[in-house]
Amino acid sequence: TASSFQGQKIVIIGAGLAGTLCAILLAQRGARVELIERQDFEPGADYSNRRSFNLTISSRGAAVLEAAGLWPRIKARTIPITGRMCHDGRGIQKFPYGRDESFALHGCRRADVNAELVAAAREYETVTLRSGYTLDGIDKRSGAVTISPVAGGPSETISDADFTIGADGVYSTMRRLIHRGERADFNQHFLDWNYREVFVPAGSDPDHPWVMDPNALHIWPRGDLMMFALPNPDGSFTGNFIYPSDRETDFQVPGLMGELFRREFSDVAGLLANPEETLKATPPSYFPTQRNTKWYYGDKFVLLGDAAHATVPFYGQGMNSAFESTAELIRCLEAVEPVARAKAFATYQAKRKPNTDTIADLSMTNFEELRSNFKHVMPKARRRAEVLLNRLFPDHFVPLHVQISHSLTDYRQAVDDCARRDRMLRWFGLDILILGFAAIDLVSRGIARLSADSAADF
Ligand code: FAD
Repeated sequence: TASSFQGQKIVIIGAGLAGTLCAILLAQRGARVELIERQDFEPGADYSNRRSFNLTISSRGAAVLEAAGLWPRIKARTIPITGRMCHDGRGIQKFPYGRDESFALHGCRRADVNAELVAAAREYETVTLRSGYTLDGIDKRSGAVTISPVAGGPSETISDADFTIGADGVYSTMRRLIHRGERADFNQHFLDWNYREVFVPAGSDPDHPWVMDPNALHIWPRGDLMMFALPNPDGSFTGNFIYPSDRETDFQVPGLMGELFRREFSDVAGLLANPEETLKATPPSYFPTQRNTKWYYGDKFVLLGDAAHATVPFYGQGMNSAFESTAELIRCLEAVEPVARAKAFATYQAKRKPNTDTIADLSMTNFEELRSNFKHVMPKARRRAEVLLNRLFPDHFVPLHVQISHSLTDYRQAVDDCARRDRMLRWFGLDILILGFAAIDLVSRGIARLSADSAADF
């Protein structure tokens, strides 16, 4: 017999993307929810000095939001992204995500999605949002949690909750508290790369304020440097300038990074009043991947979203995966009576961990592809061959990136399916097709170079 959440009180630490969505799903099922958030989310709070980056919502995230009745209002704050636009220094080329425009991702500001989810959560009388409070401690035996106001003041203990969800992000306090004194493996790996935000202002034409294609994820692969940019609804773009972490000290040398940026990303630099100042306007951020073997403690505490499984963002799946985890947690809890909650937590971890480990691996691999390979002939030819095959055999040939971003197939399953299919396709000449595309690319590059040389001769 399935349980309902009627009559239960659930505490959620963190009103970020997963925490607010989870609060809404639980309220829809009859629970009372107390959401504890460290930042100030009260109406009228000043958001202007907060860091926000852009992200893309794919089919997975959209499906969970749709089931919660939230997709129309979130979608209204997004822009369709139909492909990658590669600025490789020789020119600009768009690589569509799929065989037609229906294969779009939805680009948005993280802060907009968070604000919309917080607003939606506030619409439930049974959700109480207490912002400006931070988690201090937990009592593993009783399940009580202690919180205190960030602005200072006495701490307080919440001891009447049925259980608590730790959705407090990548550097989760809840995870640390759950793991204390346990046999729990925890691995945190930082990429040797940092990033800084680059804000590209809107153009002056009010009818079309975007200074670049607004329906694309713009990428500037430079091997040892890289940049991404996504459009904002007001015509501006938010970029991420990515550089080796040992170059961090170069920002102290006046003019050095500005000069480098102008040289390597001249088309973007031309859109900025002062590239050096833009780069220094935001502090450096890092790219952690985190895995751990203990997502819950007994039947009182469980981790959700980045707190359980943080990945680097190069497949654009962190939030999408966090939303899938939210839906899975609710499903597992609904499948058992409250007395068997610990079993539900175990099933939730067993179902999600292989998938979140897979997307963490894929995201690392994709970083390498985005950073440099896309300038190279073979990966580009492979992508073109895949799109062509998908166009010819839409039901039988679905490339991995399509399965990850435009399907609901579990990440682990998608990787297994693609490996099996690739083995099979090798028999039917996939490699020949890739070589064909590579040859066409090389010939067209050769012709372009020849005509540039002969133009220079005259
Ligand atoms: P968060 O959104 O980080 O929320 C955690 C919340 O907990 C925050 O509000 C925080 O203030 C609060 N909190 C923390 N500690 C405490 C405490 N002690 N007490 C109380 N509250 C606390 N994902 C995608 O799907 N697509 C993308 O395109 C994409 N792009 C990205 C680009 C970048 C540059 C980065 C960095 C990430 C990107 N992601 C993307 C990943 C995505 O942002 C995260 O996976 C997602 O935000 C995770 O949601 P969360 O709710 O688990 O954590």
